[in-house]
Amino acid sequence: MSQSSFCFRELDMSYNELRKDCLLDRWVVIATERSRRPTDFALPKQETAKTAICPMCVGNENMTPPALMLYLRENGEIKKSQDPLVGERPKNWIVRDIPNLYPAFGPPKQPGDEKQIVKSECLWNAIGQHEVLVESPNHDEDPADAELPQLGLLINAYIDRLKELSAKPYVKYVSIFRNYRIEAGASLSHAHSQIIATPMVPTIIQEEQKSSKEYYDNHCKCVFCHIIEREAKSPRLILDSVDFVVLAPYASINPMEFWIFPKKHAQNILNLTADEVAAFAKTLKVSLKALKDLVNDPPYNFGFHLAIAPQTQDSYHWHLEVYPKLATWAGFEKSTGVYINTVTPEEAADSLRKQTKTTNF
Ligand SMILES: [Zn+2]
Ligand SMILES: [Zn+2]
Ligand SMILES: [Zn+2]
Repeated sequence: MSQSSFCFRELDMSYNELRKDCLLDRWVVIATERSRRPTDFALPKQETAKTAICPMCVGNENMTPPALMLYLRENGEIKKSQDPLVGERPKNWIVRDIPNLYPAFGPPKQPGDEKQIVKSECLWNAIGQHEVLVESPNHDEDPADAELPQLGLLINAYIDRLKELSAKPYVKYVSIFRNYRIEAGASLSHAHSQIIATPMVPTIIQEEQKSSKEYYDNHCKCVFCHIIEREAKSPRLILDSVDFVVLAPYASINPMEFWIFPKKHAQNILNLTADEVAAFAKTLKVSLKALKDLVNDPPYNFGFHLAIAPQTQDSYHWHLEVYPKLATWAGFEKSTGVYINTVTPEEAADSLRKQTKTTNF
């Protein structure tokens, strides 16, 4: 046996990092010891089961409940409308918002029900709304490849639905999210987002709102504005444009996770200008395209974090969080709420930053 066979690997004396989210009481192990490069995740794609008839495709409007909101193209103009309760439903839609057939949260069934949501401390009626937003007549539309005007219409539709739902007195939060590919929970392959209005503020958002309010009360400054300034000079910066920044969060729990922040302070998307909507569409497309090209079109979820109550106006700052689904959470994560991330946020940002530079329009 040669002498080299007895050589041990040089001992690495550094530790994995245990990072804590700056707003949430949540820990993540950044496992540099087991680190993987972003391209290591390029797995073969799992095909979505093709249904014989897609209920979201043009011509099948009668397979769904009547649309609550439609954007119609008429004589070259975009018109907002809704499906009639009886009679022919329009087929010239470009965005179509429908009630979910199997809602997690449903509207009040009787007048007055919305005033009695809380039955006891641990039992509430799940009153709210659950909608499916069909993003395009094009079945395979993907935000990473979509035309920017269509993506702009999708963002306008998010704004319109948020406006209507957040005005309901029993709605305390509106979750707008997207599941991309079957592995990330999309049961139908037609391009769609979901919108769920809830009678309480969900825990993660509530924690963010509480911590940012505390920071505001102590520093007279929004913590997210502070994070944006600080991270713009960090190795976690992915994209910096006039109106938006894209960052890999310091304590990312998912490999290749990134968040999109508007530079202008606002607690939600309701007052975005037309130019800001266009800039957001471009930022979303460029970052999702970078992820798609870098890691072979991976499944992902994204969700808006926002606030609607007047008391959070100065302290909360909306953002969109994108969670690529590249790892499986198992016993440790599920039983402890502590996550292990095998791609450092700095490495994720570096690869995504380089990839965004190759996107042309
Ligand atoms: Zn379809
Ligand atoms: Zn802010
Ligand atoms: Zn957040």
